[in-house]
Amino acid sequence: MQTVHDLVRLAAARRPDHVSIVDDRTERRLTYRELLVEIDAYAAGFAAQGLGPGDIVATVMPNLFEHALVLLALHRLGAVPAMINARLKPEEAAGLVKQGGMAGAVTLPDEAMVRALKETLRQGAPVITAGPGPAGTCTLDACRGDPKAMAPWKSPDPEGLAFVLYTSGTTGLPKGVMVPHRATDARVLYMSMQCGVMHGTHNKVLGLMPLFHAVGFFSGLMGALAFDGTYHLCSVFDPVRAMEAIERHGITLLYGSPTHFHGLLAAPNFSAERIRSVQTVIYAGAAMPGPLLERVAAAFPGRKMTNIYGTTEIMNGLYFPEPAGKPHHYRPGYYSNVRVGRIGGTVEDEAALGEEGELLIDATADATFLGYLNRPEATAEKMHGGWYRTGDIAVRLGDGDLEVRGRVDDMIITGAENVHPYEVEATLARHSGIAEVVVLGVSDERWGEIVVACVKAGGTRPSEEELDRFCRESTLANYKRPRAYVFFDEIPRNAANKVLRRVLRENAHAALSSKKA
Ligand code: AMP
Repeated sequence: MQTVHDLVRLAAARRPDHVSIVDDRTERRLTYRELLVEIDAYAAGFAAQGLGPGDIVATVMPNLFEHALVLLALHRLGAVPAMINARLKPEEAAGLVKQGGMAGAVTLPDEAMVRALKETLRQGAPVITAGPGPAGTCTLDACRGDPKAMAPWKSPDPEGLAFVLYTSGTTGLPKGVMVPHRATDARVLYMSMQCGVMHGTHNKVLGLMPLFHAVGFFSGLMGALAFDGTYHLCSVFDPVRAMEAIERHGITLLYGSPTHFHGLLAAPNFSAERIRSVQTVIYAGAAMPGPLLERVAAAFPGRKMTNIYGTTEIMNGLYFPEPAGKPHHYRPGYYSNVRVGRIGGTVEDEAALGEEGELLIDATADATFLGYLNRPEATAEKMHGGWYRTGDIAVRLGDGDLEVRGRVDDMIITGAENVHPYEVEATLARHSGIAEVVVLGVSDERWGEIVVACVKAGGTRPSEEELDRFCRESTLANYKRPRAYVFFDEIPRNAANKVLRRVLRENAHAALSSKKA
């Protein structure tokens, strides 16, 4: 077993003078040798603040250079970083800190956030800020200790808790996903097995996904460091700046959500010349709509392209190489045994070939989480007899592939008919006047739910009649046609670029009610 620290230290032994991390704001860069010293210095500083092995420490930080160092240093100390989305409101972040019984926090010097965390943590627990913060906090700079004070690294218990990552909470309160040390290898190595990433200093990764997300941390940061590569921090995703960074640094690996690729292709400075250095394109987090997938594949001809399906709990369950033309097709990942179970049935109750069911993933794989932090009832809901219930609808196809059709919870039931948003979205996405579309069910007295399309127009806004005509002329069954269209300037998304369906549903409901009134 290699832990995260093992992977960094082994890379440092192989390539001490190679650049490990580059900051996009300051251009600060650290060689692997320097990175190890920084990690030890911060780890020693955290120890001096009273933090130690086994302590769960909240990191509530945006994508900063310091964020990467803090995560690696807490881990080096034997503490457990609990990676909380910095976009949460102070009271929400504090709620997670309380729920997790955390021993300290590292955050931005934001007064409201620091106050909420201090009120929640036990008296005297350290709150460390990246920059000068309110009284009673310690700045990260002041918190560097003597790197030589750190005892040599000892390999921990493989089952021991290494990291707490949070579910996106698009449908409820985020849950703390406890990731053990033994999960690291599999969470990183699939990039080689399934996405064709070769070991070597040529790897230059643009950190598109946030560091607090499983993909941002294990595949972005660790996907660079474990492979002797260089991680280029992306503190905010600005497509124009990202295009410049790709060209300037000769980025070889782009791993983002479909929204990132949508943004890159729409950037005014996008050109084939600028992305010449890119060898590998990986996307995850959501299915990429067919038309976008075709455009991305055409923009990156000859590159290795992979669709990765995963969840924070099991990491990478399914994948599909060269997905163009098959946006919803998947295969089990190299460490994943999967099953399609009857919806509402037991995990032993398997759906037939071609029948829709819930995707179940073998939870005995090393990459699997230990459970949700202090939420045994939530763990019991998702884990049954060694299987993890994903909550995603899948169908087994004859050739061994699977089709994933979205979340069980997102399925719309209208007049007793089931409608999958993805099918309606895929149809509408082909309309030239639509930049983005999300289809959801809005409650309705007569039909139970009606199919509603939430549209972000691209260029001139098409009329509802035009979109309805477009659907009628398509292969979409009549009952699947949206009964209403609501136009939005932006589709609300969380920091990991997942659509905030609950927010969107409320907004759509409000817009439709005011239209009726
Ligand atoms: P999270 O744990 O926040 O990363 O969310 C995991 C969920 O995102 C999965 O259960 C799927 O619903 C969705 N998801 C992730 N990757 C993909 C993908 N490549 N295709 C379709 N859905 C995906």
